[in-house]
Amino acid sequence: MSGYDYDLFVIGAGSGGVRAARMAAAKGVKVAVAEDLHLGGTCVNVGCVPKKLYVYASEYMQEIEEGRGFGVKADSVSFDWATLRDNKKSEISRLNGIYGKLLDNSGCTRINGRATVAGPNSVIVNGEMYTAERILVAVGGWPFVPDIPGKEHAITSNEVFDLDTFPQRVMVVGGGYIAIEFAGIFAGLQAQTELVYRGDLFLRGFDQEVREFTATEVARKGITLSFNTDVTSIEKRSDGALEVALSNGEVRVVDQVLYATGRVPKTTHLGLESAGVALNDKGAIEVNDRFESSVPSIYALGDVIDRVQLTPVALAEAMSLVDQLYGSGEGELPNYELIPTAVFCQPNIGTLGLTEEQARECYDSVDVYVSDFRAMRHTISGSEERTLMKLIVESATDKIVGVHMVGADAGDILQGLAVAVVAGATKRDFDRTIGIHPTAAEEFVTMRQKTR
Ligand code: FAD
Repeated sequence: MSGYDYDLFVIGAGSGGVRAARMAAAKGVKVAVAEDLHLGGTCVNVGCVPKKLYVYASEYMQEIEEGRGFGVKADSVSFDWATLRDNKKSEISRLNGIYGKLLDNSGCTRINGRATVAGPNSVIVNGEMYTAERILVAVGGWPFVPDIPGKEHAITSNEVFDLDTFPQRVMVVGGGYIAIEFAGIFAGLQAQTELVYRGDLFLRGFDQEVREFTATEVARKGITLSFNTDVTSIEKRSDGALEVALSNGEVRVVDQVLYATGRVPKTTHLGLESAGVALNDKGAIEVNDRFESSVPSIYALGDVIDRVQLTPVALAEAMSLVDQLYGSGEGELPNYELIPTAVFCQPNIGTLGLTEEQARECYDSVDVYVSDFRAMRHTISGSEERTLMKLIVESATDKIVGVHMVGADAGDILQGLAVAVVAGATKRDFDRTIGIHPTAAEEFVTMRQKTR
């Protein structure tokens, strides 16, 4: 024991904070965790989990429609928002309880309230001072809405899950994965949906072919895509509808405007600057490879360090830190180069490793294999949906350096392939793997003809 109240004081009981607290406590470390909102953080309460539940809801609507081609008769299909929202609420409360139990059972002390850093070894919560040998800041991020007239009428991902009524006309603003996922949710649940993005094409940073293919598929689902356009103002009318002025001079009337224009680290009024913790120009905590800030006893990880804003990355960082501080000391760093990730739009995107554009910059010669086909289920479903699969291979070594898919279950399919690619799989390894028939995934091991 260090002579402080705690060995480790964790600020934030989200993905990274809870994992670090539990793993450290399991090693006999005296841990306190402060949380001011809800246990489980963004992912559990207003992120991955409720979003995926809503994605499932939106896909049921589509599947019922497609079932007609298979003889399924469902003549009066309707959607009840209150049922979805309230069932979601119960599930999230259940998860909050599980997170509480996990922390309690691991021996952590839970403190409800907003924590601020008072110095290299002290934290204040609810007016009370706690000392700790080490402090871990895992406070995550917060949605950012640009300063436009009428921004108070817009909602963000913090509010969208619990709306009183389901909006029939929705505008989603943004070009990142969260914007596209919500556009898919609303459109799938039969709202008239428009996605407005100021850039040429959404999903910057993704493979160009994947971006273009996704735009075609998303538009096919009935989402209006307005690129090179931005919102200039929002006005609330007397009937409650919102009048949205766009930079191209057009005006739309909608029931909700959802801003998904990025998230910023939640570091304001946290006491970090006065404690001497260096922040970058976006407000993210600057850390070294060992997650140490400029103050050696203060650590940070997850969204607040703004490397890769994904739950499994926050978890991997937490495990690395705990191993480094209280375990073998090696604390293997997360593999930031090969992070598999999914976008749960319709159809899903799954992606791993380099885009074709990045691979061409990194290597002298690259082989690209592309397959664009109609999945078997859509031969009689009536849907025009197509699937894209893409392998990027470094010619000299035959190593797979990028895998991309747009199609049903792309996230689930990519997870398995990621193990192979992380283990160093070559194109020949893919070729000598026997397919599972009939699946869409088997296409990944039967792409023999180089596309370019
Ligand atoms: P968080 O989970 O945000 O936890 C931070 C916690 O700190 C919060 O509970 C907060 O209340 C608390 N806190 C903040 N300040 C204080 C303070 N001063 N005192 C006490 N407590 C404080 N990731 C995926 O991998 N897959 C997905 O499908 C996915 N979907 C997403 C969808 C949406 C709509 C959003 C917004 C995010 C999504 N993410 C997804 C990202 C994922 O949620 C985050 O990367 C992850 O939650 C980051 O974990 P964290 O521990 O850094 O922060």
